[in-house]
Amino acid sequence: MVKFMASVILEKIKTFSLPKLPYDYNALEPYISEQQLKLHHDKHHQAYVNGANAAFEKIDKAREENVLLDVKAVVKELTFNTGGHMLHSIFWENLAPAGKGGGGQPSGELADIINTFFGSFERFKKIFSSAASSVEGSGWAALAVHPCIQRPLIMQIEKHNVNLYPNFQILMVLDVWEHAYYLDYKNERPKFVEAFWNIVNWDRVNKNLALVK
Ligand code: MN
Repeated sequence: MVKFMASVILEKIKTFSLPKLPYDYNALEPYISEQQLKLHHDKHHQAYVNGANAAFEKIDKAREENVLLDVKAVVKELTFNTGGHMLHSIFWENLAPAGKGGGGQPSGELADIINTFFGSFERFKKIFSSAASSVEGSGWAALAVHPCIQRPLIMQIEKHNVNLYPNFQILMVLDVWEHAYYLDYKNERPKFVEAFWNIVNWDRVNKNLALVK
């Protein structure tokens, strides 16, 4: 339990920062090019980090000036930008270079849960791919688990913050915003979705599952 000590916290306000990628920018080639990954991480993800910090600054500034906050506007800004930051942070970690931790099939508890609730890995792949390919506009496909019932669920998140379920914990995501694949695949999102399976870091997804308990 975190003890809320306002005076201490305000002296050391923490902000979000862009996490480093756990591999080189060219490590996911040929499935994601160096140019695509660099732009995605350094520019797009950074923009969500900045956006989230800017929204918190507005909250702090309103308090300092003792003015009423436009809560609706700031909350919208916050949920979009923190959602973007969190989802990208999960995404980089659930990828790995093909053949060096990326690709293949899940094992252990993750394989059990997938086989039990989706019938087979192949069937799970089809459903997840279909969820990713059919996101309207910008969004994500995600695999999540509810900690109380240990039941997995494939989510289709719009933007970074629509269609999320409270308490379901996200194990794995696939970013299908055009900014994630347009340089490499142009308008052909399903090709990017197919390529994704070559660079999934199943060990990481399994670790995420273990953390849910
Ligand atoms: Mn993205």
